[in-house]
Amino acid sequence: IGGHPKPQAAKLKPAGVKQIIAVGSGKGGVGKSTVAVNLAVALAKAGKRVGLLDADIYGPSGPRMLGLSGKPQVDDDNMILPPEAYGVRMMSIGLMVEEGQAVVWRGPMLMGALQQFLGEVLWGELDVLIVDLPPGTGDVFLTLAQKSELAGIVMVSTPQDVALIDARKGIDMAKKLNVPIFGLIENMATYICPNCGHEAHPFGHGGVAREAKSLGVPLLAQLPIDLDTRLGGDEGRPVAAGEGAMARAYADLASRLSE
Ligand code: ADP
Repeated sequence: IGGHPKPQAAKLKPAGVKQIIAVGSGKGGVGKSTVAVNLAVALAKAGKRVGLLDADIYGPSGPRMLGLSGKPQVDDDNMILPPEAYGVRMMSIGLMVEEGQAVVWRGPMLMGALQQFLGEVLWGELDVLIVDLPPGTGDVFLTLAQKSELAGIVMVSTPQDVALIDARKGIDMAKKLNVPIFGLIENMATYICPNCGHEAHPFGHGGVAREAKSLGVPLLAQLPIDLDTRLGGDEGRPVAAGEGAMARAYADLASRLSE
């Protein structure tokens, strides 16, 4: 009678982590990692226990953006201890290889790294684990969507058509995989000239808002091209940790996602 219980598909959600939120984009270079890092810092500032898993394996910029470097420590049980900055515990392949070295891996190795980063990192108790996905609709997103009980995904796009077309594919994939879509974030839409105050739209105007409307998903934030955001990313001082307008924009985003 009864027989054997059905084997469960291996789950990839660390025990102490309440929620995993993925940050994706259709294309590279639209500011996905910048948003992931600053959102993580803003959530930590708001009192959440936050982790950041930089799963953008081919372009791991998370450590630089948080000012972290050096190999993480390993405890007696061989668990990796994620280093912490700005209240955010972070893990990234970028902490395992020298900066400037290429990661030359095939898909299965990538999946191995992802599993290791979820299963062999001592994340501890976290309210939110932010996952910075590789751009596009590849394996990492697929695996996480199927095995990690994602709370939802946030998609970052610039307003240009080429970025939006790819972002749409990402949203479509999330829908097909039943991953809740928190919404779209428009990045680098406006540029305000520091000399004359003129507002320009180098990547077009209104495209992400239109896209959000036509897809029926919320537009979560509109973030301008901002020198401090770029400098902060390069120098390991995330703009969300400061006090200015961008810090307030990220605080707003963090509170929308905490609702
Ligand atoms: P992705 O993760 O999509 O490849 P990144 O977050 O690495 O993109 O951003 C690419 C570059 O653009 C980085 O140098 C980053 O500092 C810069 N950047 C991103 N968002 C902004 C912004 N709103 N204003 C100015 N520079 C930005």
